[in-house]
Amino acid sequence: MEELFEQLKEQAAKMKDGAIRFTQKVIGKTNNVVDQTKVKLAISDTESKMEEIFTKIGGSVYKSHTDGTKVPDFTEVFAKLDELKNELDDLKEQLCRLQDTKQCPKCNTYNDQKNEYCAKCGNKFGDVSGEETKTNADDTFTVEADTAEVDTAEVDAADSASEVDAK
Ligand SMILES: [Zn+2]
Repeated sequence: MEELFEQLKEQAAKMKDGAIRFTQKVIGKTNNVVDQTKVKLAISDTESKMEEIFTKIGGSVYKSHTDGTKVPDFTEVFAKLDELKNELDDLKEQLCRLQDTKQCPKCNTYNDQKNEYCAKCGNKFGDVSGEETKTNADDTFTVEADTAEVDTAEVDAADSASEVDAK
């Protein structure tokens, strides 16, 4: 029992070192597909390592049940897991920056950094819908002013056309 627990701790410590080395290697590089692939690999690597620890914790808890022994104190293992989790969050952030994407707060879809609306759920990024209305009004005004210089008949046609557009 003790041995298994020590193994678990050792493993968790080793994994964390590995994750950090990987991160430092990735940071500071230019934005390219190779880096994205590396970060993606590091993410799935970290995730599967965490899964492995989860499984071992479960196994060791079940073993103490069958052996009738006390469940070991996992505090240190959990601390390592916390660090791995932080590492994972950092990697995911890095991936966002590399891909020049942002995550929709509503549906978690990754969108292009310059998207105004989420491609999946249509959620508007940023805010203030009032400013948007103002901008539209300015556009309409500019179009009308340009048309007025051409011809009276065309202006009438354009006016009725823009009225239809407005509705
Ligand atoms: Zn969305």
